[in-house]
Amino acid sequence: SDEREMLGWAEFGEAARELARQVVRSGWMPDLVIAVARGGLVPAGAVAYALGTKAMGTLNVEFYTGVAETLPEPVVLPPLMDTSELPGRKVLVVDDVADSGKTLALVMDLIRSKGLPADVDADGVAQETLAVDARSAVVYAKPRSIIDADYVWRRTDRWIMFPWSSQPPVTEEV
Ligand code: 5GP
Repeated sequence: SDEREMLGWAEFGEAARELARQVVRSGWMPDLVIAVARGGLVPAGAVAYALGTKAMGTLNVEFYTGVAETLPEPVVLPPLMDTSELPGRKVLVVDDVADSGKTLALVMDLIRSKGLPADVDADGVAQETLAVDARSAVVYAKPRSIIDADYVWRRTDRWIMFPWSSQPPVTEEV
């Protein structure tokens, strides 16, 4: 569809509260909220406040278009958060939208891999590690997504205009 899904600031506020309500109703409360930057920063902050969760982290993921421009894959960019505190924790990963779902799938794999016994210490010794109990929340999910988020506010196949990115960066003039 050529139509666009417009999300306003006030409606986004309702979306964040509703996502938090879904989490609370599920009986699972996160110890830590991780934002997928940049798109998930605003949603993650709003959901964390709505849940009363103070601990937060950020993973910066972008679609890197390399030489093979027809095969864009999401990559994790610096700065990297300290993931050593993740094993044994309940982690809620928040993003704006799961479109192809590749970004969210990458982040969930990365976070869950921090709880695998395959992790080795500085001397290359396999460490006994606790699992990372990770779940995901998105404001929007698209039908083609390769990953099913645990908490979804709304589903659409349209291009979404988010309130934080629907206008160009400010300049000195405007
Ligand atoms: P993915 O295809 O990996 O699920 O989406 C990666 C990122 O692309 C999303 O986190 C989001 O920032 C951006 N994106 C995907 N679909 C949309 C959309 O409909 N509207 C906007 N504004 N960004 C999108």
